[in-house]
Amino acid sequence: MKSMKCDMCEKEFEAEDFDGWFGQMKSHYMTDHADFMKESQNKSKEEGMKWMADMKAKFEAL
Ligand SMILES: [Zn+2]
Repeated sequence: MKSMKCDMCEKEFEAEDFDGWFGQMKSHYMTDHADFMKESQNKSKEEGMKWMADMKAKFEAL
C-alpha cells in the first residue's frame, strides 16, 4: 500500500497501485478541484498525458 498526496492540495490517497490511486484522484478532482477540471478541458491531450506520466513516475518512485 502506498500513499501519495494530491498535487493541488494536502489530501492524501492510499492505493495498491497507480490505477487505484488515480481512480480516487479522479473523483477528488471532480469534487474538490472542479474549476481546474473545467480549465483542463481546454488543454491539449498531450498535457494531460504528461501530467499522468509525471504522477505515475512519482507514485512508482515511492
Ligand atoms: Zn486535491
